[in-house]
Amino acid sequence: MGKPTGFIDYARQQPADREPLERIKDWEEFHFNLPDDALKRQGARCMDCGVPFCNSGIMIAGMVSGCPLHNLMPEWNELVYRGLWKAAWSRLRKTNNFPEFTGRVCPSPCEGACTAGLAIEPVAIKTIECAIADQAHASGWSLPNPPVKRTGFKVAVVGSGPAGLAAADQLNQAGHSVTLFERSDRIGGLLMYGIPNMKLDKRVVQRRVDLMAAEGVTFVTGCEVGKDYSAGKLKAEFSAVVLCGGATKPRDLVVENRALKGVHFAIDFLAANTKSVLTGEPAAISAQGKHVIVVGGGDTGTDCVGTAIRHGCASVAQLEIMPKPPLERMPENPWPQFPRVLKTDYGQEEAIALYGADPRSYNTTAKKFTGDEHGNVKEVHAVAVEWIRDDQGRAVPREVTGSEAVWKADLVLLAMGFLGPEDQLLGQLGVVRDHRSNVKTGEDTFATNVDGVFAAGDMRRGQSLVVWAISEGRRAAAEVDRYLMGSSNL
Ligand SMILES: Cc1cc2nc3c(=O)[nH]c(=O)nc-3n(C[C@H](O)[C@H](O)[C@H](O)COP(=O)(O)OP(=O)(O)OC[C@H]3O[C@@H](n4cnc5c(N)ncnc54)[C@H](O)[C@@H]3O)c2cc1C
Ligand code: SF4
Repeated sequence: MGKPTGFIDYARQQPADREPLERIKDWEEFHFNLPDDALKRQGARCMDCGVPFCNSGIMIAGMVSGCPLHNLMPEWNELVYRGLWKAAWSRLRKTNNFPEFTGRVCPSPCEGACTAGLAIEPVAIKTIECAIADQAHASGWSLPNPPVKRTGFKVAVVGSGPAGLAAADQLNQAGHSVTLFERSDRIGGLLMYGIPNMKLDKRVVQRRVDLMAAEGVTFVTGCEVGKDYSAGKLKAEFSAVVLCGGATKPRDLVVENRALKGVHFAIDFLAANTKSVLTGEPAAISAQGKHVIVVGGGDTGTDCVGTAIRHGCASVAQLEIMPKPPLERMPENPWPQFPRVLKTDYGQEEAIALYGADPRSYNTTAKKFTGDEHGNVKEVHAVAVEWIRDDQGRAVPREVTGSEAVWKADLVLLAMGFLGPEDQLLGQLGVVRDHRSNVKTGEDTFATNVDGVFAAGDMRRGQSLVVWAISEGRRAAAEVDRYLMGSSNL
């Protein structure tokens, strides 16, 4: 512990984000880092408590508590407090391949489990993590470090999201020759074409890709395995394969007039926008001057709100079927569970600053769409729902009679989550799926039913988080290494 009275002496402090009305004029990141002296004080607040729940990464009540990567935050908090930034970077790198990503986009389950949070505010762990990673890159401590010896084994990784990148990084460091296949034109999966630039600058993603390429990872873009490169060839040419194709099937809304023009999946809107930001070409789906309805109140919905506002939409509203979360933890959601409390994220902050009201309507869902004579969507008919228990005691929504309201809409974005992985490649390989259609593997082996074929990330776990994807990629890589070498130091 750096300073025994740190948590008494200093209050939690986080960097101020850029002003909402300023940041909506561009696509630059909206967060800053704190100055070094403030970061030292934040590091001092960590008490290195006897049982650091912050790095436990366990599931409680169906949600993660603590860091799935088991980051060593009590150690790096103290090192930051002492000004030993390079040593802090070295500790951080031990457990997390890409802290520059998690430091920006992780919902920080570590902070929900921080012991200080029992009595006062938790340590600002994510802020410190991001600052260490940014300091390391700015100071030139993150240089290419290729393995000294190659094993002679060739490993293919399919899919370049955080799971695929983590698996490739680990396997390359172990000396295997790694080829990473990605069907898109750029590497990064949802880090590149899902999470918007203002939350995670694509130069930060590309910097990591360039570093890995300099360390010897071969990246192949524009190649869909199972279509452009057969599953048979993959099995024949590589000693092991890690499937990291994500859970890319978006959940649809089965309502009247779903096929109208102007109704899109959120991911298509977000991906098209990032492409436009990167190329300077107009976005294939634009919200400019439109009344936008986002169906889904989660993080993807938030990204749609922030993106629509930057396009210059006329209005934006978000329909959320779930009830409004409480402002503080409820008794049934005690520490160290992940706190299920109301979060007003960047997109909502921007809508409030621009239009004077939170865009979210809770306990509300879309019942049907109507269109104009050209087949363009023009209205969303929404209804209120109440949550009741069915025969088996499960909470289910029931429409409130007479609650139908009509919302003007020129663009509807469906941000209702993802159902699981796509079928083509998995079918060709003969990989067995679980009851949720995800790839079935041994719980700790990450091995599928097909010899030499492993899986990690959203493709195995279902739609999840970047921190889980990195964790899965690392653990799968260790199993592949063990499969090839008989044992592993990863
Ligand atoms: C809009 C959005 C915002 C999000 N924001 C956050 C956030 O702020 N914080 C957070 O923690 N999580 C966030 N998530 C979730 C997070 O991005 C995912 O959990 C994570 O990216 C999963 O990583 P992955 O590597 O398993 O898969 P993905 O990132 O989905 O990558 C899979 C890749 O595989 C490629 N692929 C698939 N099949 C093939 C094939 N046959 N051949 C070649 N390539 C193939 C795909 O093109 C894709 O690039 C967000 C998700 C979305 C959709
Ligand atoms: S990766 Fe996420 S959970 Fe882990 S320390 Fe960083 S912010 Fe916390």
